[in-house]
Amino acid sequence: MLKCRTVWKKLAPLARASSTLCRQNVRRAGRSLVTVTSAQMSTGPAGGGGENQIYVVLVGAVCLGGAAYVSYGMQHMHRNAWILMVSPFNNPDEPVVEASPEEAAEPPAAPVVEPDVPVVEPDAPVVEPDASIYSPQVYLSWVVTNMQDYVLTVPLFPAFAYCLSLLCFRLLWRFLMHTPALESTPASPKVPSHTPYLLIGGGTASFAAARSIRARDPGAKVLIVTDEPDLPYMRPPLSKELWFSDDPSVTETLRFKQWNGKERSIYFQPPSFYINPEDLDSAENGGVAVLTGKKVIHMDVRGNKVKLDDNTEISYDKCLIATGGVPRNLQAIERAGEEVMKRTTLFRKIEDFKSLEKVSRNIKSITIIGGGFLGSELACALGRRSTDSGLEVIQMYPEKGNMGKVLPEYLSNWTTEKVKKEGVKIISEALVKSVTCKDDKLEIQLKDGRLVKTDHIVAAVGLEPNVDLAKSAGLEVDSDFGGYRVNAELQARSNIWVAGDAACFYDIRLGRRRVEHHDHAVVSGRLAGENMTGASKPYWHQSMFWSDLGPDVGYEAIGIVDSSLPTVGVFAKATAKDTPKAATEKSGTGIRSESETEDTAVSPVASSTPTPAVEQHKDNYGKGVIFYLRDKVVVGIILWNVFNRMPIARKIIKDGEEHADLNEVAKLFNIHED
Ligand SMILES: Cc1cc2nc3c(=O)[nH]c(=O)nc-3n(C[C@H](O)[C@H](O)[C@H](O)COP(=O)(O)OP(=O)(O)OC[C@H]3O[C@@H](n4cnc5c(N)ncnc54)[C@H](O)[C@@H]3O)c2cc1C
Repeated sequence: MLKCRTVWKKLAPLARASSTLCRQNVRRAGRSLVTVTSAQMSTGPAGGGGENQIYVVLVGAVCLGGAAYVSYGMQHMHRNAWILMVSPFNNPDEPVVEASPEEAAEPPAAPVVEPDVPVVEPDAPVVEPDASIYSPQVYLSWVVTNMQDYVLTVPLFPAFAYCLSLLCFRLLWRFLMHTPALESTPASPKVPSHTPYLLIGGGTASFAAARSIRARDPGAKVLIVTDEPDLPYMRPPLSKELWFSDDPSVTETLRFKQWNGKERSIYFQPPSFYINPEDLDSAENGGVAVLTGKKVIHMDVRGNKVKLDDNTEISYDKCLIATGGVPRNLQAIERAGEEVMKRTTLFRKIEDFKSLEKVSRNIKSITIIGGGFLGSELACALGRRSTDSGLEVIQMYPEKGNMGKVLPEYLSNWTTEKVKKEGVKIISEALVKSVTCKDDKLEIQLKDGRLVKTDHIVAAVGLEPNVDLAKSAGLEVDSDFGGYRVNAELQARSNIWVAGDAACFYDIRLGRRRVEHHDHAVVSGRLAGENMTGASKPYWHQSMFWSDLGPDVGYEAIGIVDSSLPTVGVFAKATAKDTPKAATEKSGTGIRSESETEDTAVSPVASSTPTPAVEQHKDNYGKGVIFYLRDKVVVGIILWNVFNRMPIARKIIKDGEEHADLNEVAKLFNIHED
């Protein structure tokens, strides 16, 4: 009985798994019913496609041999044959080889065991048989002992059938013994050994490339490998809208309300958009698969293959490197040791948002180091919370005012006042000398002697492009800007392209650059994807970026916006319509670069309606345009609380002309009209 249970415990899950996996694969293969190949039937050690076939052959042979034997044996055999039938499953406590004449004389009880099998509780613990009793020696002695008189009484064909059935039974048994129980073997995703399109990194640039590859080559098989646990998602809401959500489960849902009130997810696509990596090979119409939690650690560019951190190798036809960047840290923090590091967040990923959200609820004071767009956005987001929870929010940076490296001084000062109004304590011109952990507080010692006590630090001090693969791939890293150097088609070498934050490209207007912004990641990823399918297009897009200090103040920028360049600003009085919130309500999208496309670009023709004289409202920078000049030519433009006019700014940069009067140029943006 015990043996029959054991067999059932082994057979039932195997049979179940075969059918379940087949069903799953049919579902994954597409919504229409398709023929499931053996390769698609299942994966992994248990129940693999090949094993299913062995299973079917063995069971079939056992049934055939057994049936022939039983039908003949019913007529001719003496009852020892019944004992022989069940003997391979006897346990050491009831060895048939040693069956006494009395036991042998018992009525045939063993076959009665068989009908019990299906009613065995599926969850009953599996009792593993002692393998020693199934050793060849014991088995042989058992056959020799029991077959002697039996062979004499049984004619040749049924004897052959019987032997065949025993052999098959034996093989089946061995097969089952060596098959790990399915319940204990979680199927690990099988990585395709080859993919036509391999995209390294699962961020914005990779996702954009995957889309454009599929648009130009609809049957394309695209594999994205990312070391993050998540499917591709957008980062901008991590420092903006997600913090303003009323939903207490926002860290789980990662859904947010755009400033215009519409809800969306930070993921570019739901899981159903992607196919499983193990199905990529056999997917008739191709698709995009994402291998999460795996890092590419080595590139063999001659062999067109990469190695993952689990030693798996994947070869490719075309490869995109879109590895983004890693947040920089301050040396003072790195030097400070484990306790300080544990209480420091380097903000980049979903997990950083989740942990900072949690930490900020359980502490009294938080300090953001860094005055750029990321630090200022997070300061405003946390500052707003401080009014509810009493959290002290400090922002410190070496510049005089917020976003001081980008904004001209007067506007940076104005912004600083705005951030202060959001509940943030600003410490400007602050250079961190050291950080220590004392009496359960972090102590930040500044170079000028000031000391700041806090519970947690967010270091938002820039990004280091991720060029870890440069060495093994033999790719050139730009010594000035960092990032992989690529040509005008974003190609680093034959069959290798780079896009997004990790690419150092040649901008035909502004020279060699590296850009760390969403729109650049989208457009460069899209173009790299097109070129991977043979488009050979140059990257001439002048990308933009934006930053919002909450729903009320925001800007969009293009070109080189460096506060050390001479600037000319033209401002007008803002109205309620001149906020990021109003802009997203109007355009219907919260991710700004989605609202503009090349074909919306208009020639910079001034408004035909009479325009009031351009005037500068002192200390009232409600909305305006700031031009950044190099050799009297506009190389950068910030649209301050002016939205959806980026194509005009792009055209001005592209034209690259000298302008005698920038007030006239500012009229193109119609800032006085609304
Ligand atoms: C919080 C936040 C807010 C932002 N807000 C704005 C904004 O308002 N406006 C704006 O224009 N820009 C913004 N940005 C910048 C913008 O998000 C980035 O420029 C953009 O994400 C870059 O995309 P990418 O694909 O090049 O790199 P990433 O999005 O960084 O993706 C790279 C991916 O590759 C993975 N990876 C790296 N190496 C390997 C490897 N060897 N193997 C496998 N995987 C690897 C990384 O883990 C990562 O998942 C923001 C960024 C952050 C962090």
